[in-house]
Amino acid sequence: MSRVLDVVNLHRIYETKAGLTHALRGVSLVVERGEFLCIMGPSGSGKSTLMNVLGCLDRPTSGTYRLEGLDVATLSDDDLAEIRSSRIGFVFQSFNLLTRATVLRNVMLPLVYSSTCPKSERLERAVRALVAVNIPEELFDHRSNELSGGQMQRVAIARALVNDPALILADEPTGNLDSATSERVLSLFRKLADAGKTVVLITHDPEVAMYADRTIYIRDGKSLTAEEEQAHVAALQARGQYAN
Ligand code: ADP
Ligand code: MG
Repeated sequence: MSRVLDVVNLHRIYETKAGLTHALRGVSLVVERGEFLCIMGPSGSGKSTLMNVLGCLDRPTSGTYRLEGLDVATLSDDDLAEIRSSRIGFVFQSFNLLTRATVLRNVMLPLVYSSTCPKSERLERAVRALVAVNIPEELFDHRSNELSGGQMQRVAIARALVNDPALILADEPTGNLDSATSERVLSLFRKLADAGKTVVLITHDPEVAMYADRTIYIRDGKSLTAEEEQAHVAALQARGQYAN
């Protein structure tokens, strides 16, 4: 198997007027191609900060991050933008669709900025991505704000898939969905991983972990394995402090 993500001892310190926030304090993780990794942790633990670094939206303060073998620190901002658009598909809690644009237009949009997709292929690729997430053809010309939450999230997943990225990064993708719809969306991520996509999904919903191959935990900016998390929770319970 090849490594899609190889992260060693990442730190991210935010400098604000109020002072320094040490949001990541040594996160290490390796994700292989085709793996579905779930990252769990309480609110404020650094999950979105990690997602932004993994997604090349932000640079770490220290530590190394290799994406498909490339050391991200050696790349220019233009290189990072190119990697973001060609190698990474993002899915967010709030869907982030253009609400007044049609379903098809939303999914074609990343291809407009792609250097690798000829104009003549945009439509075909968008249709293929929508079919893969089970959006029926009669919805293709609807505006995205006419869809249900579950349909919106599946369109957002189609948009994330359309450039055939190496990595799908999802930050709380089921946070706005009811449980039946969440299950459908999570099964879809599972199916994508089974088909060889690499999926990293951030959540604080324990149910998500059932769909993933592996779960790691983030607490106070540090990554913990499942065993370390268990030991941490056991220690808190012993002191009567377990709340999450
Ligand atoms: P999570 O996604 O797990 O809720 P975040 O990564 O959003 O956690 O936040 C981790 C810590 O970093 C929090 O203390 C948060 O207040 C702080 N933080 C996040 N983003 C910024 C920012 N842009 N500037 C300053 N502090 C931030
Ligand atoms: Mg967050």
